[in-house]
Amino acid sequence: MINVTLNKKASTPMNVLCIGCHSDDIEIGCGGTVLRLAQLYPGSKFHWVVLSAIGTREAEARRGANLFVSSDCLEGPILKDFKDSFMPFVGAEIKGVFEEMKRSVSPDLILTHNRKDAHQDHRLVAELTWNTFRDHLILEYEIPKYDGDLGQPGLYVPLPTDLCQKKVDYLMDVFASQRSKRWFQESTFMGLMRIRGMECNSPSGYAEAFYCRKLVL
Ligand SMILES: [Zn+2]
Repeated sequence: MINVTLNKKASTPMNVLCIGCHSDDIEIGCGGTVLRLAQLYPGSKFHWVVLSAIGTREAEARRGANLFVSSDCLEGPILKDFKDSFMPFVGAEIKGVFEEMKRSVSPDLILTHNRKDAHQDHRLVAELTWNTFRDHLILEYEIPKYDGDLGQPGLYVPLPTDLCQKKVDYLMDVFASQRSKRWFQESTFMGLMRIRGMECNSPSGYAEAFYCRKLVL
């Protein structure tokens, strides 16, 4: 196992593009990493894009972005109104959103969905991320779900315990519309981070993990 830092000069701010299908995906998949990067690279910009944020979920997406990223570091959020679970049927329109993103952002790091995710919306967005951004570091986050699609990610971000707790507190507070789902619980989120922390010998015991399909050193 090797440890790398994303940026040699720890103080150099980064441009991070966070892409999520639904209003809680970014926060669940990489909320801890976003909080950590903001600590490690002060002044970084986080471009925040959510493709399906409608009605109550739009308000939740907006609040989530504003809690996880301070106002001076947040670019957006850009919130779209594509219908949940129907994204593969409007792929051309979503590709248009990606082309728009490409024109306006030059990210050092992109956090997006995993191409082997069991949710069809998530898979489409993973594909379009790779299809649009051709010379970028892309990390794919994981979302626990009923379908059971967790695999073996190979890139880990160890996280301090208090930061994991902050992530989960925010999740439970912001996404009230999801609390009725049986899996949307503190123990699910802490449990997954605990397992990923075990796998990378995280000092705190907690981590988030990502799939990195291509890395240029
Ligand atoms: Zn989702």
